[in-house]
Amino acid sequence: MGEHMAKSMKQNDVKTGTSKNTYKNTKNDADKNTGMAAKSGRMVYFFDEGNKDMKDLLGGKGANLAEMTNLGIPVPSGFTITTETCHLYYESCKSFPKGLKGQVDTNIARLEKTMNARFNDAVNPLLVSVRSGAASSMPGMMDTILNLGINDQVVEALIRKTKNERFAWDTYRRFIQMFGNVVMEVPHHAFEEELQKIKSRKGVHLDTELDAKDLKQLVVDYKALIQKITKKSFPEDPRTQLDMAIEAVFGSWNNARAITYRKLNDIHGLKGTAVNVQSMVFGNMGESSGTGVCFSRNPSTGENKFYGEYLMNAQGEDVVAGIRTPQSIDQLAKQNPVVYKQLVAVRDKLEKHYHDMQDMEFTIQEGKLFILQTRNGKRTAHAALRIAVEMVAEKLIDKKTAVLRLDPSQLDQLLHKQIDPVAKKKADLIARGLPASPGAAVGKIVFTAERAEELSKKDEKVILVRKETSPEDLIGMNVSRGILTARGGMTSHAAVVARGMGKCCVSGCQDIEVDEKNKILVVKKTGIRLKELEYLTLDGATGEVFRGQLNLVEPGLSGNFGILMQWADEFRVLKIRANADIPRDAKVAREFGAEGIGLCRTEHMFFEGDRIKAMREMILAESLEQRKKALAKLLPYQKADFLGLFKTMEGLPVTIRLLDPPLHEFLPKEDKEILELAKELKITAQKIRSISESLHEVNPMLGHRGCRLGITYPEITEMQVQAIMEAACELTKQKQDIVPEIMVPLVGNVAEFRNQKEIIHRVAQETMKRYGVTLKYMIGTMIEVPRAALTADAIAEEAEFFSFGTNDLTQMTLGFSRDDIGKFLPDYLHKNILEKDPFAVLDQVGVGQLVRMACEKGRSVRPAIKLGICGEHGGDPSSIAFCHKAGLNYVSCSPYRVPIARLAAAHAALKSGK
Ligand code: PEP
Ligand code: MG
Repeated sequence: MGEHMAKSMKQNDVKTGTSKNTYKNTKNDADKNTGMAAKSGRMVYFFDEGNKDMKDLLGGKGANLAEMTNLGIPVPSGFTITTETCHLYYESCKSFPKGLKGQVDTNIARLEKTMNARFNDAVNPLLVSVRSGAASSMPGMMDTILNLGINDQVVEALIRKTKNERFAWDTYRRFIQMFGNVVMEVPHHAFEEELQKIKSRKGVHLDTELDAKDLKQLVVDYKALIQKITKKSFPEDPRTQLDMAIEAVFGSWNNARAITYRKLNDIHGLKGTAVNVQSMVFGNMGESSGTGVCFSRNPSTGENKFYGEYLMNAQGEDVVAGIRTPQSIDQLAKQNPVVYKQLVAVRDKLEKHYHDMQDMEFTIQEGKLFILQTRNGKRTAHAALRIAVEMVAEKLIDKKTAVLRLDPSQLDQLLHKQIDPVAKKKADLIARGLPASPGAAVGKIVFTAERAEELSKKDEKVILVRKETSPEDLIGMNVSRGILTARGGMTSHAAVVARGMGKCCVSGCQDIEVDEKNKILVVKKTGIRLKELEYLTLDGATGEVFRGQLNLVEPGLSGNFGILMQWADEFRVLKIRANADIPRDAKVAREFGAEGIGLCRTEHMFFEGDRIKAMREMILAESLEQRKKALAKLLPYQKADFLGLFKTMEGLPVTIRLLDPPLHEFLPKEDKEILELAKELKITAQKIRSISESLHEVNPMLGHRGCRLGITYPEITEMQVQAIMEAACELTKQKQDIVPEIMVPLVGNVAEFRNQKEIIHRVAQETMKRYGVTLKYMIGTMIEVPRAALTADAIAEEAEFFSFGTNDLTQMTLGFSRDDIGKFLPDYLHKNILEKDPFAVLDQVGVGQLVRMACEKGRSVRPAIKLGICGEHGGDPSSIAFCHKAGLNYVSCSPYRVPIARLAAAHAALKSGK
C-alpha cells in the first residue's frame, strides 16, 4: 500500500471511537479469559486451537489467524503466545514465566512437523516471522521480526533448496538488519550506512542492483557492525534467536510509541501484546512471488469493489516503504488470474464470515497464495456510511449493527468543508492550536471584527485572528470564513460561538502572538511574521494553522447519511434539541433533525444593527425611566426574533433563556467607538468610561450576570418575557401551537428563582389578557451553579424543567476558568492530571455526580420534571451516553452537531439495552 494511504488509514485509526468502546467493554472479559488461561498455565495456542472470539487472549491478529485457519483459508502455520504471558513477563521483572520455553518448544516441534521443515535443518530449514498483536490493532506501534531462523548454515541450505543464491543472501541480510535493530538495538541508520557503502562502492542506486556476492559481503559487514556496537556476537542458534525476538516483542508493548498510541486512543485495561510465531512465506522469491494489502471494499468511498495494492518480488516492508510504487490489485487479474481468483474467493468468504469490510495482507510464494492477516478495515466516514447501508441491503448485517458501525464523532467529517488531502501533504504548517470547531477555512488575515465586515462586504474571504473574541466580535465572526485565537479553551467565546455558527475555529493557539494594534501575527518558535491580508488556512478539526491558500473540498452528504440517521432515530431514547439563537440557525438545526431548541441565548440577538445601540442606551441609563425607554426600543426586535424562531420550529419546543452575560460585555472598548456612542446618545465620553468602569468586575464570570441581572433590573426580565409572550400569543391566535419554555440562568438559590418566576408569571398573565388568549408556558431554570444541583429538590418545587448548563457547572465545580484553561490544559493532559478537556468531555466523576444528584432530587419532588442539557457536552458522544444513563429527556447541542448527537444517543440506547 502506498505511503499516503497507509498514513491516512493510520489517521483513521486514531480517530475511531469504536476501538475505544471495545476496550471499555472487554476489560472484564479480558480478565475472565486471562484468568482461565492463568489457571490452566497455558501460554501458547497453535492456530487451529483458537478462534475469532479469543481476541483478548490471542490478540486481534492471533485470533483472526486462528479463525482463518479453521475456515480453511491458506494461512501459513504457526502459534500464538497469549497476551497474558506478556503480562506475566512484566510481573516477573521482565523474565520469561516458568513453563513458557517448554510450551514454545512443543509448539515449534508441532510446527516443524506440519511444515515438514526444521530449525537449523540442512535440507528443509524452518524460518518464521515473529509479530506482535494486541487485542486492539495498534498499527506499526510494536515490533515485528521476519525471516527468523537463518544463519550461516541455513543460508546454504536455502540456496540449495531454492537454487536462488541472491534470494537466500538477501533474506539473511534482511534478517540481520531487522533483528539487529529491533532486538539488539543497533540504530537503523547504522545498517543503512553499511548498505550505502556497498552501493557506492559498486556505483549503484537500488538494493535490487546488488548481487548475491554483494549481499553476502553485507552479511559479514552487518555482523561486524553488531559486534562493534553491542559488544555481542550475532546469535546463530535459531532457538536463541526466537527467545530473543519474543522478548523484544513483549518489550515493545511498553515502548514510547505504543504507550502514546494507547493514550491517544483511550486504550486501557489490556494485559499486553500477544506474539505470533508463523512459518515464513516469501514474496521475494522471484517474479512469480509477491505481496500486498487489500480491502474487501474501497476504504475511501465504500464502493463494493475489491481494492488494494501489491508488489511482485517483494516482502511486506517493501510495500510500505514506498520506494517502489505498488500496482493496483486489478492488475493482478491480468498478471496472475489464478491467484487473483483465489484472492477474490478469500475476500468473499471473509467478508461474509465477519460481516464487515476486511483489510487483508497476502503473500504469493512461487504462484501459491497465503493470507497473513485479516481485520475489520478502517474507513473514512463516507465509506463507513455507504458500507453500513449497503450491507443491510445485502442482508449481511441488521440495522442495529449498521447504526453501531458508525462512530458518531466520525460524522464530523461529513458536515464541514475539508482541506484537500493532497494539498495538505505539501502545505506549510506554521502553528497548532485547539481543534475548537471543525471544518476548514481559507482567507486573508484580519485582526478586527470591523475589518472583517468591511472586507467581506467587498466579497473578500477573511480569517479573523484575535487574541481572544468577545460578543462584540460576533458580526465579524459571522462574516469570516474562520476564526483563530491565541487564547481561550474549547468553551471560550470564540469556540462556542463558532461551533454554533458551524464555522471553522482554532482557539488557544499558544504558538502564536497576535499584535492586533500593529496588525501582525508572529509565530513564536519560528519568528514567522504574517501581516494583514496575507493568506492563512485553518483546519478546525485538527487545530492546524497553515500559511497560504490551500484547496478545500465540499462535504458531500449522500442519501446514505439520511437513511442511517433514520435508523438511529428508531433506536434512541433521548430527544435531540439544538442551541440556536436566530431563525437561520434553527432552520439548519431542523434540517439536521433537531426536535426543538434547548437553548436560545437571547444576548446574541442584541448585537446586530441598531439593537446594540438600544442595548447600550439601556445599560448607560441613569434612571428607571430612561432604562425602560431603551428597553421599549429593544422589545420589537426581540419579539420579531422570537416570532421567527417559533415559526421556524413549527410547534416544537423552544427554550428561551433570559439575559445572562455581564453588562460590560455590551459596551464599547475602543476610544473611537466610545466617542461615536457618546455623540449618538448625547452624553460625554467620560460618562461612558466611568459607567464602564463601574461595571468592571475582577471576576465577571462569577459576577453580576445571570438571574442576578434580572433581580437587580426586573424591567429587563419584564421586557424579555413580554416579547416572548407577545410572539407566542400572536401565533396562538393564528392557530399555531406553541409552548414557550422560559429559562432563568445561573440560579443557585431557590429564592432567586422565585423572584424571577413571580415577574415572569405576572407579565405572562398580563400579556395573555391583553391578547385575549391563554396558552401554556413553562418556567424552568438552568442548573449551572453547584449549589443549584445540591438544592435541586427545593428548586424543583418551583421549576418545571431543568437544563444543565455544564459549561458553567464545569467551570464552577472544577474551579477552572472556561476562558483561560488553555494556559495550563496542555500540561494537565501531558502530565496525566486530566484525561480529557473537561469543557469538551463531561467530567462524569465530579460534575456528573452533581448532574445525577440534581436529576434524582428534582424527580423526587416533581416526577414529570423535564430534564435536559445545553452545555457544550450536549454534542459530545461520551457525555451523551452519560446523559442517557442519567435519564435525561434530551440533549441540546449546536446545530451542526445534531446528527452526531442523534447517532450517539442511538449508540447509548443500544449499548445499554434500552
Ligand atoms: C452553560 O453554562 O453550560 C450554558 C449553556 O450557558 P453559557 O455557555 O451561555 O454560559
Ligand atoms: Mg452558563
